[in-house]
Amino acid sequence: MRTETESTRNYSELLRTAQWLERRKQILKRDGYRCRNCGSSYGLEVHHRQYHLTRRTGDFRKPWKYDAANMITLCARCHQVGHAKYKVPVFNV
Ligand SMILES: [Zn+2]
Ligand SMILES: [Zn+2]
Repeated sequence: MRTETESTRNYSELLRTAQWLERRKQILKRDGYRCRNCGSSYGLEVHHRQYHLTRRTGDFRKPWKYDAANMITLCARCHQVGHAKYKVPVFNV
């Protein structure tokens, strides 16, 4: 069983990979480089609407392997508020 700290650290490492940066760019472009919540173009981040846990391996799907429909561009502020308000649903896949 992994500790929360370890999985969070691993996750932020994944978000520095070339694969993620490329995928992130595609989503930002799709959303017109604007926050889909407030329209800001400052401090944009890509949010996952769902997390997928692979039953077979017990690992989360790599962040760049999600469908574009499960990702949305948010500014840092809306992103933070959203995470504080809602829990991202986890699906077993
Ligand atoms: Zn926003
Ligand atoms: Zn998020």
